[in-house]
Amino acid sequence: MENTRSASLFENAKKVIPGGVNSPVRACRSVGCDPVFITGASGAKLTDADGKEYVDFVGSWGPMILGHSHPEIVKAVQDAAAQGTSFGAPTPTEIELAQMVVEAVPSIEKVRFVNSGTEATMSAVRLARGYTGKKMVVKFDGCYHGHADSFLVKAGSGVITLGIPGSPGVPDDIVKNTLSIPYNDCETLEKTLRDPALDIACVIVEPVAGNMGCVPPKKEFLEDLRRLTGELGIVLIFDEVITGFRLSYGGAQKYYGITPDMTCLGKIVGGGLPVGAYGGKKEIMDCIAPDGPVYQAGTLSGNPLAMAAGIATLKLLQAPGFYEQLEEKAAEYAGRLADISASTGIAVTLNRVGSIMTGFFTENEVVDFESAMTADTNRYGLHYRQMLSKGIYMAPSQFEVAFISAAQSGDDLEKAIKMTEWSFKKMLEK
Ligand code: PMP
Repeated sequence: MENTRSASLFENAKKVIPGGVNSPVRACRSVGCDPVFITGASGAKLTDADGKEYVDFVGSWGPMILGHSHPEIVKAVQDAAAQGTSFGAPTPTEIELAQMVVEAVPSIEKVRFVNSGTEATMSAVRLARGYTGKKMVVKFDGCYHGHADSFLVKAGSGVITLGIPGSPGVPDDIVKNTLSIPYNDCETLEKTLRDPALDIACVIVEPVAGNMGCVPPKKEFLEDLRRLTGELGIVLIFDEVITGFRLSYGGAQKYYGITPDMTCLGKIVGGGLPVGAYGGKKEIMDCIAPDGPVYQAGTLSGNPLAMAAGIATLKLLQAPGFYEQLEEKAAEYAGRLADISASTGIAVTLNRVGSIMTGFFTENEVVDFESAMTADTNRYGLHYRQMLSKGIYMAPSQFEVAFISAAQSGDDLEKAIKMTEWSFKKMLEK
């Protein structure tokens, strides 16, 4: 990548932005190369600063389920911008998006919009604590819920990728109120939740884990979570920042038929603009200021551009057969990848739920953080660099998911399959 415009941009970026990036995984360190700088995107394609085009499997880490620069979403944002970009006052559009969310997501009776997934999860946990008057938060190893202090305990995403064991700057006094236990482990779950010494306010879970790579929940895991939290008066929070409007129009809770008490959203609900949302039962949501004593606020919350993008996106997702077609496309793509693994003999454990998937370079079944860690990250790094060189843009870490979008054409996926086959064969030569 020497002598490219991306390389010189990266040098400039590093002088004024820590690590040259505004979010750590973008620096591509775990895949052993420097990042390409993106200047534009349309449909399933990204264009970098050197004019090279890529088929995109990152989709801005999830929001772009309809592809980039969808004309209806762009128009909605332009129309909104022409009316003013922020008022710091209530607007009709935030009611419209809130109504759409309440109709779509089974657990949400009332919803509050914020600006990121991190804000959504942080606020949801504060509210669960305020509502129950209890302290402890239970999360699962390898799940990522944004970068608020109380979640940086055995977290996924960039925290794994960079090998940061939690994070300096997070006081012990705060994380002592967070307990992280293994994903998909029903026995530990029951023992923990029933422990009378723990003052548990809530359990927060990614209903399909997406931040240690894609790890589907065992059926009984979600069922036990619902049954036990219900019985014990613990608030169950689904972090659907990735899965919301992705696995189905009603998210993972509709997909699996398990309704939590609260839900966090982000990514798709903002149509590619900065949005998060948290919602749930009226009785819980009414504890938020100004109706209740639990405080949460935001200068740009419910931003009119973001609301317009969200509304336009959700309307498009209501098209009959949308999720069925996405599932079919993703299933076929995953099947072809599995064939390449079988024919080349390069072991890949392919986990997929709907349009999110991860091919782990391991022979082991991947059901939790520990098994995910058996993946060969050097092999992933090599595969990543080879794919990038051939115009396929994948997540720059083994422990993230690939996102299939409605914009990817048969030709785009065919190209990715051909290049995967080429890359696997090339790895065998080494
Ligand atoms: N929760 C989950 C499940 C996520 O995947 C993410 C981000 N990828 C977040 C929360 C945090 O969202 P944000 O990056 O918008 O703060």
